[in-house]
Amino acid sequence: MSKNKFGLEYGFQTRAVHSGNDIDEGSGAIKRPIIMANSYALPYDPTDINWSSTDKALYTRNSGANQLYLQEKLTTLEGCEDSVVLASGVSALSSVFFTFLKSKDHVVCSKITYLAVYRLLTEYLPDKYGIECTFVDSSNLEELKAAIRPNTKLIHIETPGNPIINISDIEEIAKIAHNNNALLSVDNTFASLYNQRPTSLGADLSIESLTKYINGHGDAMGGAVLGKKDLIDKIRKEAMVNLGGTISPFNAWLIMRGAVTLPLRMKQHNNNALKVAKYLESLPFVTFVSYPGLKSHPGHEIAKKQMKNGFSGVLSFGIDADYDTHNAFISHLKVITSAVSLGHDESLIVFFGPDDERQYLYPDEFSNGFFRFSVGIEDIEDIINDLKQAFEKVGLSY
Ligand SMILES: *Cc1c(COP(=O)(O)O)cnc(C)c1O
Repeated sequence: MSKNKFGLEYGFQTRAVHSGNDIDEGSGAIKRPIIMANSYALPYDPTDINWSSTDKALYTRNSGANQLYLQEKLTTLEGCEDSVVLASGVSALSSVFFTFLKSKDHVVCSKITYLAVYRLLTEYLPDKYGIECTFVDSSNLEELKAAIRPNTKLIHIETPGNPIINISDIEEIAKIAHNNNALLSVDNTFASLYNQRPTSLGADLSIESLTKYINGHGDAMGGAVLGKKDLIDKIRKEAMVNLGGTISPFNAWLIMRGAVTLPLRMKQHNNNALKVAKYLESLPFVTFVSYPGLKSHPGHEIAKKQMKNGFSGVLSFGIDADYDTHNAFISHLKVITSAVSLGHDESLIVFFGPDDERQYLYPDEFSNGFFRFSVGIEDIEDIINDLKQAFEKVGLSY
């Protein structure tokens, strides 16, 4: 008893529901179970087996049932050839660097990028392995082109970029990478593959922290790399098996369950964030709002071109107030929670103070400190009223 495979002939929501799921042959259950066993039965004569093989389920670090189901769902949603799921977004990122870079290779990377990437490429990989990296403003194609060297093997960008929400042009940067025999990897976490599919825009690898929108419920960690089969196979063989950042079957199952409603949640995130961005932009004491859905955003036209379904749920903004008022404002919020992470069902906000370690990389308007706001899927009136009452409590009214 087996259902169809749910490929690209079906719509995105249908694939989100069905792909990767099937009737369980053992029990007849219509949802595939969690398989926690870490080993799988060997054949009668195992002597010919490649113990590091990732093709056959032997041992969960090489291949496990729930991991394969989740990969099937993500691959069909991105519409690419293959994907590998790992223990976290950082595990996915570091496995790309480990697999495709060696000593004396050079990387060009967005200077606005996830903190672990910044540390890996500024400190650990150069110091320990002699890998070179140049950080650029990847929203500026001329600056990016000028940084390329004969030994540049990888361009890595993040768009929208964390935490200032800048936009880089994936299609144009893919051309630049390929003209220079380099790979392009894109951290797609802030958009999620509902809004933006980097591999369809020419990127070689798309990286997702599944911890964020794709799981969406703030209760599991995971990461994925998506792209062409030969590249993904290489990551699986080199980094997954030998570095061992394997996802747990339980987390893979939770993320599979969360991903079913990804399109529904993303529509609400997209709509809510645009409304919040417009509301904030209308306030006299708000100094700036960075959201790619606003016409005032310098990357708005590029975002419209590459973020096909919406501008996602994360924005950043500043207020005209002293340091303590920023903290006091957050303390008065009731619906919105002050916590790191993003892409959860609930609204999350973080205050990055003027002493943030990467403040010098941000545009001038960010220098007084700013908020990164991951707008959740609550009722929009409740989110806006929550902001309003907290602004009023700290004397910001209009
Ligand atoms: C959270 C995040 C990561 C890291 O993912 P983890 O699952 O926390 O390891 C990487 N990139 C971006 C853009 C993120 O927001």
